[in-house]
Amino acid sequence: MELPTEPVGSLPRPATLQAAIKGFDEGTVTRAQLTAEQDAACQDSVTRMEATGSPIVSDGEQRASSFATYPLTDTLAGTGLADHLAGDGQYFAIFTDGHHRQLPRLTGGPFRYKTFAADYLAKAVPMAHKPLKQAVIAPSMLALLYPLDGEVAGYNREQFLADLCDECEKDIRKCFAAGAARVSIDFTEGRLACRNDPNNPWTGRGMLEHFIELNNRVINRFDAAERRNIGVHTCPGGDCDATHSADVDYAELLPSMFKMNAGYFLMQLSSEPDKERVYKLIGEHSRADANGLPQVCFVGVINPQNPRVETADEVCDALMSASRHIPKERLGSTDDCGFSPFSVDVKPKHGSPDIARDIAFQKIAERVKGTRLASERLGLSG
Ligand SMILES: [Zn+2]
Repeated sequence: MELPTEPVGSLPRPATLQAAIKGFDEGTVTRAQLTAEQDAACQDSVTRMEATGSPIVSDGEQRASSFATYPLTDTLAGTGLADHLAGDGQYFAIFTDGHHRQLPRLTGGPFRYKTFAADYLAKAVPMAHKPLKQAVIAPSMLALLYPLDGEVAGYNREQFLADLCDECEKDIRKCFAAGAARVSIDFTEGRLACRNDPNNPWTGRGMLEHFIELNNRVINRFDAAERRNIGVHTCPGGDCDATHSADVDYAELLPSMFKMNAGYFLMQLSSEPDKERVYKLIGEHSRADANGLPQVCFVGVINPQNPRVETADEVCDALMSASRHIPKERLGSTDDCGFSPFSVDVKPKHGSPDIARDIAFQKIAERVKGTRLASERLGLSG
C-alpha cells in the first residue's frame, strides 16, 4: 500500500468571497448572495483539489468563519454569534507579525453549537467524486471560551466542559454520518500552550496536560475502528502568513500529544529548522498501539505560508529521511497547516488570496507526486 497523503483542510477564500463576507457584515450583501459565493468557492475548491491527484479532498472550509469559530459564528466579525456568547473573549493567539485573533466569551449556559462541521460537509458531498475529509475543532480550543479565572453565573466550569465534550463528539459523529472518510481535529493550541507568553495569559498556565485529557475524553468515546479515521493536527499557527508558536520546542509537545488515542496525526514539519530531530522524536513517542490501533504519522512536507512551490523530489527526500525514524507502515505526508484557517486572510506574502489559491493547488500536486515517488522507493507501491 502507498504512503497515505492528506490535506489539513482549508484554502484561502477567493477575493470575491472575502468581499461578500465584508458586505454581509455591513448589510450590503444578502445571505443568499453570500451563500452563492460560498457554493462557487466550495465547488472550485473540490474540483481543483481533485485535479491535483489527491486521493482525499476537502471543500477548503470556504463556508467556515474560521477553523475554530465555525460552530459559533457566521463571520469573524461576529455576525450570527451563537447564544450565550459575547465577542470580547480571550486572545486565542498573538502572531509573530503582531496581529491577534480573539475568541468569544461564554456568558451563560447551556453551551450548544449553532453550526456543525457536517452542515458544511453535507453540501460538499454532491460536489465531490473522491472521498472527503472534514476538519473539526478540538474541545481544548473551545475550552478557552470559558473565562480563565472565576465562574460564569449559573454555569460552572465542569457543566460547561461536559456540554462541550458532548457537542464535540456530536460534531465528529455527524461528519462520518454525512459521508466523511476521515475527520481530523485541529489542535493548534497544543504547541501554543507551551509558549508562556506574558501578553497572552492562558499560555502561561501549563494547560497542555488538561488539553490532552479533555480531548481524550471525546476521542475515547469512539471505538478503535472509528479512531483509525480520527486524526489530530498540530502546528505553530498559520494566519496571514505568520505563526504563533514556532519558537516552542516540539520536544515539549510531542510526548504529551501522542497520549491522545487518535489514529493519525497531521504534523507541521517542513518549516522546522531541524527536521531530523523531530522525525526522531515522532519515532520515539508515537505509539504502535494506542488502545487497539497504530498511530499513523503524517509529516508536513509543504509550507502553506511560503509561496515557493516545493518540488516532488523535495517531498520525496523529506519522506525518505522521515522513514529512517518512523516505521514506513505508520508514515504519511501532509501540509504543515491549512492554507488559510481564517476566512479573512489576504495572504500577504503571496500577493493576494487568489494567487495563494493557485499556489496551494500546485503545492498539493507536488505533495501527491512526491509521496508516490517515496512510496516506490520504499517498495510500497503496486
Ligand atoms: Zn494548522
